[in-house]
Amino acid sequence: MSKTESEEKPKGIEEQLKDMLGGANLTFFAGQPDAETSEPDAASKEDNRKKEDALSAIEKFDLKPRDVRDYLDRFVIRQDEAKKVLSVAICDHYNHVRQCLVDSNLRDKEYIKHNVLLLGPTGVGKTYLIKCMARLIGVPFVKADATKFSETGYVGHDVEDLVRDLVKVADGDVDLAQYGIVFIDEVDKIAATGSGSGKDVSGRGVQVNLLKLMEETDVSLFSQTDIIGQMQAVMDMQRGGGDGAAKRTVNTRHILFIVSGAFGSLAEQVQKRVSSSPIGFSGDANLEKSDGEYLRMARTGDFITYGFEPEFIGRLPVRVVCDALDASDLQSIMEKAEGNIVEQYASDFRGYDIKLSMAKESIKAIAEEAYREKTGARGLTTVLEKVFRDYKFELPSTGIKSLEVDLKAVENPQEALQELLGKKESVRRAVMQKDIDLYLDRFYREHELKLSMNKAGREAIILQCLADNMMVKRWVEVNFHDFEYALNLIARNTGRKSFSITKKLVENTEQELSDRIAASFKEKG
Ligand code: ADP
Repeated sequence: MSKTESEEKPKGIEEQLKDMLGGANLTFFAGQPDAETSEPDAASKEDNRKKEDALSAIEKFDLKPRDVRDYLDRFVIRQDEAKKVLSVAICDHYNHVRQCLVDSNLRDKEYIKHNVLLLGPTGVGKTYLIKCMARLIGVPFVKADATKFSETGYVGHDVEDLVRDLVKVADGDVDLAQYGIVFIDEVDKIAATGSGSGKDVSGRGVQVNLLKLMEETDVSLFSQTDIIGQMQAVMDMQRGGGDGAAKRTVNTRHILFIVSGAFGSLAEQVQKRVSSSPIGFSGDANLEKSDGEYLRMARTGDFITYGFEPEFIGRLPVRVVCDALDASDLQSIMEKAEGNIVEQYASDFRGYDIKLSMAKESIKAIAEEAYREKTGARGLTTVLEKVFRDYKFELPSTGIKSLEVDLKAVENPQEALQELLGKKESVRRAVMQKDIDLYLDRFYREHELKLSMNKAGREAIILQCLADNMMVKRWVEVNFHDFEYALNLIARNTGRKSFSITKKLVENTEQELSDRIAASFKEKG
């Protein structure tokens, strides 16, 4: 049966687009020619079930702030104030979402979302806190740096891409994406400093665009530069899309926005303000305060002076500071935080059947070195990578089954590794010597021919076993498989019952055996 023109047309365009793009594999959100007729397979049924579970978890949201805080305590060290404030904000937000789902009248009422401004230095857990909360609630999470956005979206990225990314993380599930969490880092870098430079203008523009997202707007699933997406939308409309077509916009009303930054110079600015203030801090003026303490004193006016639009900062009602981590905090991360980086290394080694253990003093030394990096917990990754780099390369092929990291391994990983490999080789050599004796005994028992091996012969076998990474038993099976036949023949010709295995025989077995056989025939005459 021939297809109608309207059925053929969309496919033609898709094919043409694919041709234009060199056969790139295009995925369309809806309206694939076969999508309606084919049976959903087991994997897509499973996907649908997961999506329904995620949505129904939001509809039944009943966590209390303490539950969230307790969960965060398992993974994140310190940041108690941030944990409390974020737990309350997240519970308020998802309680409101749940109420809106039950009572649609609530949607029309004014509601100030609990968008969060998270301040604090790099690597102290700002992103990690939010990631953990998103995982607990089961909502999609995306993170981006504010600096990658431009006002127009033509240069750099468009802030709306963040919302489209949420849909991608939610595997195309727009409903779920509408309850996701967007994390925007380095937001302090889009503050306008009033110098009138081009970057400041752009920063202000990005703030305005973010503001729209943070309030409520409908974001198209396809960006202005996504020509294929736009054409697909047109094709769906031509097909009478309406009912069958998938949702093409994402509403941002229930998306929670967390913006974050180090705000180092804001701390300085607040310090200046408070120290010039005629009231208040004169009593402790000589006491050195940390950046965190000054950031805690920041008022809305300070953020505006810093270069934020009043409306932008007004849409971030929840403000909280994360503190810098000291060396003992970094040590606690390695010892106590679930799923921490040391556990990840242990799991990598377990993949090769190697048990990793770390002495307390080695953990302390790693924490101290990581602290000197001044990048918060990120310093741990840098130091551990340096410590473990060569172990990860060498150990899996050595047969070593346990790695105990002591102070020396942290201070001089190369030397400690060589020592371990050296120890390992002497153990292996002793085992090989024994295996050689076992072979000689077995050969005598089975064939009543006595083999003897001098030191050079043994060393030659050991070197070959080490080079081929083979056990002695397997090596002789492979290399001495003609021994029984050859030595029996020589025994018959000469009446000799004992033979020496020399270095020459080990290194050139075939040639040496045939020479010995030839000689035995000569001897027989
Ligand atoms: P930032 O504050 O710059 O957003 P992150 O949250 O991305 O830093 O931290 C980087 C990584 O360091 C995290 O993925 C986590 O593994 C670890 N980390 C940082 N802070 C903590 C903390 N307080 N407790 C446990 N792990 C942490």
